[in-house]
Amino acid sequence: MELDDHAEDLASDLGVDKEEVKSDLQNLVEYSVPVDEAKQSLRRKYGDGSSAGGATPESKDVADISPDDGNVTVTGVVLTAGKRSIRYQGDDHVIVEGRLADDTGVIDYTAWEDFGLSPGDTITAGNAGVREWDGEPELNLGESTSLSFQEESPDVPYEIGGDAQLADLRTGDRAVTIEVTVVECERRTIDGRDGETEILSGVFGDESGRLPFTNWDPAPEIEEGNAVRIENAYVQEFRGVPEVNVSEFSTVADLEREIDVGADTTTMDVGEAVRTGGIYDVEVVGNVIAVRDGSGLIQRCPECYRVIQKGQCRTHGDVDGVDDLRVKAIVDDGTGTLTAILDDELTEDVYGGTLDDALEQAREAMDQEVVADRIRERIVGREYRVRGHLSVDEYGANLDAETFEESDDDPEARATAFLEDAEVQA
Ligand SMILES: [Zn+2]
Repeated sequence: MELDDHAEDLASDLGVDKEEVKSDLQNLVEYSVPVDEAKQSLRRKYGDGSSAGGATPESKDVADISPDDGNVTVTGVVLTAGKRSIRYQGDDHVIVEGRLADDTGVIDYTAWEDFGLSPGDTITAGNAGVREWDGEPELNLGESTSLSFQEESPDVPYEIGGDAQLADLRTGDRAVTIEVTVVECERRTIDGRDGETEILSGVFGDESGRLPFTNWDPAPEIEEGNAVRIENAYVQEFRGVPEVNVSEFSTVADLEREIDVGADTTTMDVGEAVRTGGIYDVEVVGNVIAVRDGSGLIQRCPECYRVIQKGQCRTHGDVDGVDDLRVKAIVDDGTGTLTAILDDELTEDVYGGTLDDALEQAREAMDQEVVADRIRERIVGREYRVRGHLSVDEYGANLDAETFEESDDDPEARATAFLEDAEVQA
């Protein structure tokens, strides 16, 4: 149903002006309030005492709930319950988000009222709204939901609580518990919704890898080098990679144990890594199949540091370029491709010389392409182990390399293994 139809509905039910109802409705929906909740709240505002819906909808197993269900009654175990603050119509509104499970499956929920949900609680939610989010059904527990706590818990094949490793976190995860070392941390002043406010941002690390974070309400325990346990954090995308958000509802405590950051960082297939949509810390192994244009000796704009062509910056026009070294190498492992981007230091390694050497080589040849050509000769066709930050967006899959090392794997041995494999299958 379109917003217009919803407004029509409400206006005729409540006997008020449609345009007025519509603008209220629009307002709420713009602030991410689900349309059913928004209608409910407007019914209250315009004084319709009757609760919409009437009879309690039928009970459903979690696995059977579909985005087409308007309202359902469902019984399940609360796996996670994380508080978060959103703002609409100028007011802060605390919501609780998490996951609910029965023995058939798991579903995300959002509670718009404080029902006092905690992980491990078994609840029956009568008349819970269902909405579609990213193609999946999600439960909305609001004022029209009758919620009761049950004595007996069904056995659910899922872990209660939100314990997670950084490498497993994905955008949209809520109420997660992590144990991390603060690898980097800086205090910044931002222009927040309530004026200037201080936040902390940096990088967390655990055995599985690293992720950037923002701490919106600076916790004294979060300082560089410190190991902490954080409960009730959530994950949002920022600049193409997931970011851990530590809010005023998160709890942060010092941790006694040491954390060996990155000890278990997993090497992923290129295809698998790209499908995640972006990872802060990942390692892939693949062949360099080409070195793209814009590699080798390049010039950057002194103002914005972007790469310039023929002394022209797209934003700043005619500028005196600053010389730099860079490589954009296409890496392929048979499952997919990505572009590994090497900074000046890594480029010096693969070029086998410094920026001054490159400038001299270009001067002698009267062509700066010779630098990229020499890099091509040295790396194309070889296998590398690349670790860094992967972002996947409209510019493609780019892996900002922190390390770029020729793989120790003996390619001949791998070729032999491949041939044997092919023979077995033949
Ligand atoms: Zn510029």
